Amino acid sequence: MDRLMTKTFDPADIKDLIGTLSALVADHADELTALDSAIGDGDHGHNMKRGFEALAADSDAIAAKPLGEALKAAGMKLVMTVGGASGPLFGTLVMTLGKEIGETPDRTAFNTAFRKAVDSVAARGKSEKGQKTMLDVLYPIADALDAGADGAGVVRAANAAAEATVSVLATRGRASFLGERSVGHMDPGSRSVALLTAAIADFMEKRR
Ligand code: ADP
Ligand code: MG
Repeated sequence: MDRLMTKTFDPADIKDLIGTLSALVADHADELTALDSAIGDGDHGHNMKRGFEALAADSDAIAAKPLGEALKAAGMKLVMTVGGASGPLFGTLVMTLGKEIGETPDRTAFNTAFRKAVDSVAARGKSEKGQKTMLDVLYPIADALDAGADGAGVVRAANAAAEATVSVLATRGRASFLGERSVGHMDPGSRSVALLTAAIADFMEKRR
């Protein structure tokens, strides 16, 4: 991951990544919706699919921008199109990353920007780690990055963290309305983050 962070992203890379993520989300929409049906209102897969399709439809314009601006525009698009609770939160994550990342971030700069982006999700969601939300995966990713994990290590941390949400009692988001009945199901937003992380890591690995 070190080298890829120092390599400039060109428009073709950004467009390619958006297309990959959009296809991934579409492939997993039913799975995400099933998770959200168990402990929420069953719209998470649909929300994500709609937002990432909108992102893909706009990918030429987004990809033409420098990295930071492209991320800000992508985040804005997600806020406007994903909807639900997760849209503004994913959007905030990506917009803040765009604000903080700089044009050719080295690994340390990327890690710092990523943690700020995760903190901005917590601020926006008035939430913290341990409440059975996407933060339960985002913070472990930030920790793995800071610990120097490679792409595969970050993906392992994300998957393990998503899996670990199964046994957590939800105290934020719609699932918290279920109280004890939220235990025994994976948090849908956490699954989304783990899926996206695996695809991004794979993309980074390929362009080394
Ligand atoms: P909604 O809950 O409005 O139907 P979604 O189904 O699209 O929205 O997204 C639900 C996901 O959003 C949850 O699985 C959780 O990961 C995340 N989420 C919800 N509320 C919060 C919050 N306050 N902070 C962080 N993440 C949250
Ligand atoms: Mg929902």
